[in-house]
Amino acid sequence: MIPRVLAIDDNSGILNDFRKILMPSCNADSGDLEDIEGALFGSVTAAQPSSHCDLFTATQGEQGFELFNKERLIQAFDVVFVDMRMPPGWDGLRTIREIWNVEPNQFIVLCSAYSDYSFAELRAVLGNTPNFLILNKPFAVDEVLQIITSVVERESDQTRSDKHMAADLRVAIEDGQLSTMFQPLIDLATGATVGFETLCRWEICNKPIAYPDQFIDVAERYGLIRELGAFVISEAAAMAKELLPGWQNKNFPLVTVNVSPKQLDSSIVDLLNSLTAKTGIPVGALGIEITESGDIASDSMCVGIIRDIQAAGFHILLDDFGTGHSCLANLYKVPFDTVKLDREFCMGLPQCESAALLLQAFGKLLTQLGKTALVEGVETSEQESMVRSYGYNIAQGFYYSRPIRRQIAIERFFDDKNRSDSRAA
Ligand code: C2E
Ligand code: CA
Ligand code: CA
Repeated sequence: MIPRVLAIDDNSGILNDFRKILMPSCNADSGDLEDIEGALFGSVTAAQPSSHCDLFTATQGEQGFELFNKERLIQAFDVVFVDMRMPPGWDGLRTIREIWNVEPNQFIVLCSAYSDYSFAELRAVLGNTPNFLILNKPFAVDEVLQIITSVVERESDQTRSDKHMAADLRVAIEDGQLSTMFQPLIDLATGATVGFETLCRWEICNKPIAYPDQFIDVAERYGLIRELGAFVISEAAAMAKELLPGWQNKNFPLVTVNVSPKQLDSSIVDLLNSLTAKTGIPVGALGIEITESGDIASDSMCVGIIRDIQAAGFHILLDDFGTGHSCLANLYKVPFDTVKLDREFCMGLPQCESAALLLQAFGKLLTQLGKTALVEGVETSEQESMVRSYGYNIAQGFYYSRPIRRQIAIERFFDDKNRSDSRAA
C-alpha cells in the first residue's frame, strides 16, 4: 500500500520539497524555492523512486486540519508532518491537538525550527504517546524518508487493516449505515419473552461488512465507541417505547444495551436521562450491560459512574461474567442487578462436568446474593433444563432465537405475552 502523508507548513517552499522527496514522479514548482530547498534538505534530487507517497499539503493549521478530517474518511494517513509556527493561524500544538481529538492514534511529526519547547515540555503539554516525534529544521531528505518507512513498517498488516476499518466505520456511523438486531431474553419459569438485548450490526444489503466482535473492538481502540454507543442506546430506547404496553416484569428491563467500560463517562448518564425523558419510557425499562473487562471494581471512576446510572434508576447487568479477566470482587463492590454468565459455560453442557459444576455454583451464589441470574448461549432443550434446575432466572440463546429485526421482535414479544396471559387465565 502506498503511504499516505499530510504535510502542514506555512512555508510553501518546504511543502514543495516534501513533494520532491515523496512524489518524485510529479513535478513540483521549481524556481526561486530551490534555495530554501537546498538549505532544508540538501540534495533533493537524491530522492529514490521507491520513496513514492500519496502526499497532501496545506499551508495553515486550520486548513490542514480540515483536509485531514475530510481525507481520513476516505483513507487513514500514515504520517502527518506539522510545522510549529504558522502565523497568522493555529500553531503546531493547536493543530496536533485538533487532529488527535478526532483521530487519537494518528502518528504526527512536529517540525520545529525553534527551540521554544524541549521534547520533555512538549510531552508534558501533549501527553505521553508513542505516536509523536519532533524533527528539528533543517532536516535531511533521509530523515523524512526514514520516518515514513519506519512508521509504515512498524505497523503490522493487522494495524493497517484496523486503521482502514476504523476510517470506514466512522463513515458508516456518520452516514447512518449501522443498524441493530434484538435477541429475546426468556423467563425460565414461564417461557415468556421478558425483554431483548440490543446488538449492533454493520451490514449492507443484509451482508455483514464486519462482525461486532471485530468492529466493536476497533471502535473502542480508535475513539468511535461513544458515537456508536449513542446510536445503539437511542435504538434501544425507541424499542423499549414500542414494547412498553406489554411490560409486566417490572424487576427486569424490557431492552438491554451493551456498554463497554470505555463508554463510561459522565456524559452517558446525561445521554440515558435525556433519552428516557424524550421517549417517555420509565428508566427501569432500560438495562445497561457492562462488559466484564477485568477489575472494574478497582476503577473508582468506573464504579462511580455505574452507581450514578443505577441511582438514576436504570437496571445494571454484568455481562460476560466468568471469562476474560473476571474478578469476583465485581460481584459485591459494583452494584449489579443482574449477572450474565458467559455463553462459554452453557455451551459446555451437558458433556463438560466442570462447566456444569461452575454454572451450578454460580447459580446458587447469585441467588444468595439476591441478583437476577441470566445465562446466555442456551442452544438445546437439555441445556435449558439444566440451567433451570441450577436456579437461573433468565436465559438467552439460539434455542429460543437468534438476534432478529426489530419488527419481528415486537410481534414475537406481544405474541408471547398473549400466550402467557391465556396460560395464566
Ligand atoms: P455479547 O454481549 O456477549 O452478546 C451476545 C453474543 O452472543 C451475540 O453475538 C449473539 O448473537 C451471540 N449469541 C447469542 N446466543 C447465542 C448462542 O446460543 N450461541 C452462540 N454461539 N452465540 C450466541 P454478536 O451479536 O455477534 O455480538 C458479539 C459481541 O459484540 C457482543 O457479545 C458484545 O460484546 C458486542 N456488541 C454487540 N453490539 C454492541 C454494542 O452495541 N455496543 C457494545 N459496546 N458492544 C456490542
Ligand atoms: Ca451483552
Ligand atoms: Ca457474552
